[in-house]
Amino acid sequence: MNKILSYLDELFPNPKCELNYTKDYELLIAVMLSAQTTDKKVNKVTEILFNKYPTINDLKDAKITDIEDIIKEIGTYHKKAKFVKEIAQILYNNNEIIPKDRKFIEKLPGVGHKTANVFLSEIYNEPCIAVDTHVARVSKRLHLANSHDDVVKIEKKLMKKIPKDRWSKTHHQLVLFGRYHCKAINPNCTNCKLYDICIEKKKTIFKGEP
Ligand code: SF4
Repeated sequence: MNKILSYLDELFPNPKCELNYTKDYELLIAVMLSAQTTDKKVNKVTEILFNKYPTINDLKDAKITDIEDIIKEIGTYHKKAKFVKEIAQILYNNNEIIPKDRKFIEKLPGVGHKTANVFLSEIYNEPCIAVDTHVARVSKRLHLANSHDDVVKIEKKLMKKIPKDRWSKTHHQLVLFGRYHCKAINPNCTNCKLYDICIEKKKTIFKGEP
């Protein structure tokens, strides 16, 4: 594990969330929108969305068809547009506060465990490991988890193996490692210092998949 953590520090010494936001609810909505799409696409649509509807009050009163029009590039936009409006309505009723309360956050429409982890870690500095597609893939390739493990199992295994004070940082690093280095297709194995401990390398080199 130490070798992995050192390499992640070397590659990404100051990892950060790549979603753009200026208010906590903007981050929550951006993370919700990021399911099955890229942060780049989310940043593109949220810039337009939050400019057109700059407050929770504006968002809750927005027409769903107008929200759909803005976010249609990111896929599953009918569902996500509805979630945006519903989240805005709930937060408006809650005095626009998103409390440091996992139960409250996970009950918001379209918001699950992973989104809550990202939000709590980013806004409240809660130690969390959010397992997205990149974290799951990298964990399996590096045998931090088994190939059949679901995201809940992977999260538990990572929490056991990684020191708690590094959870949030390592989460960001694993996302960046998966996004830019250990990519799903054509991972950069030839320049990877984890090559000798990654028994997925041959498979990924020849088949391009984890
Ligand atoms: Fe990923 Fe290849 Fe490095 Fe293994 S050797 S961690 S598959 S980049």
